[in-house]
Amino acid sequence: MIRILANDGIHPDGKLLLEEAGYEVITDKVPQEELADVINDFDVIIVRSATKIRKPLIDRSNGRLKVVCRAGVGLDNIDVAYAKEKGISVFNTPAASSQSVAELVMGHILNISRFLHIANREMINGNFKGLKKQFSKGKQLAGSTMGIIGFGRIGVALAGVALGMGMKVIVSDPYVESREVPLFPNHYSIKSNALIYTDKFEDVIRQADTISLHVPAFDKPLIGAKELAMMKDDAILVNAARGGVVDEEALLEALDSGHLMGAALDVFTGEPTPNKRLLNHPKISVSPHIGASTSAAQSMIGRELADIILGFFGELT
Ligand code: NAD
Repeated sequence: MIRILANDGIHPDGKLLLEEAGYEVITDKVPQEELADVINDFDVIIVRSATKIRKPLIDRSNGRLKVVCRAGVGLDNIDVAYAKEKGISVFNTPAASSQSVAELVMGHILNISRFLHIANREMINGNFKGLKKQFSKGKQLAGSTMGIIGFGRIGVALAGVALGMGMKVIVSDPYVESREVPLFPNHYSIKSNALIYTDKFEDVIRQADTISLHVPAFDKPLIGAKELAMMKDDAILVNAARGGVVDEEALLEALDSGHLMGAALDVFTGEPTPNKRLLNHPKISVSPHIGASTSAAQSMIGRELADIILGFFGELT
């Protein structure tokens, strides 16, 4: 029997599909330091970001382990090349959470544009009239320009959400010339796409009222002091890509100097202990890396994992 260790959990929908196919799925968490003792009891290990699949662990495998799956996108916690060298296939589920991430981003943009993140914290202290005055210069999103950096899965999903809000959308991605954005991705009868061409990075960050980053992790920040200075004085910046895509110190400096309306961060350098100045800043809306954390996304991820595993072992038999 194929035995699967879902060490960081798996959505019940995915577990059910695997069990119905006769596979055994164990969801009892094995502590990281004990994984080497059980690695040869399983054909598949499924992880999210918590469990690390590194070279020393892979070296303990006697060949039974055939597949490592990452429930999500980033493969930073897996030594992918080494696993493959040892005959272990590595998969992730990049598409399943794009819409949920896009929605979280739009939630943050709404927070900043209407001061909701800070109003939520401050109203309990009274001063209703003072706060009403303080938060009277909100920004309407319809008619404003959304700049999207990175026109992959999440960038496309966000473009659809922004167009639905009545925003103008401009996009930069050096590897993409244009993409079709589904305008009604879940509607059963209305099928319509918007064809969006990409622009130059500098043009997008200069012209956009809101800039949202949907790029992979790089060695150095894509957005530092120079890029922040190019943005409009009342621009909103969102990073829900990876910690380090924005230079956090440069961002704090820009915000403290009065530049930008605000920023939103779902990802941080030094997760899970981000810089407290970011968390306390009145012009920053924060969340603890929960872009993909909806039951719809997790269900899709679970079902995608089941498809991958069933496809893999189905081909072997
Ligand atoms: P994707 O691979 O589909 O898209 C990334 C895009 O970035 C690609 O089109 C690529 O061409 C483009 N790109 C690369 N270098 C660029 C550059 N210098 N300038 C502009 N564009 C550039 O990835 P995705 O699924 O859309 O994910 C985007 C990011 O979101 C990733 O970093 C991923 O790890 C992160 N993510 C975060 C969460 C969350 O919970 N916050 C969830 C899922 C994914």
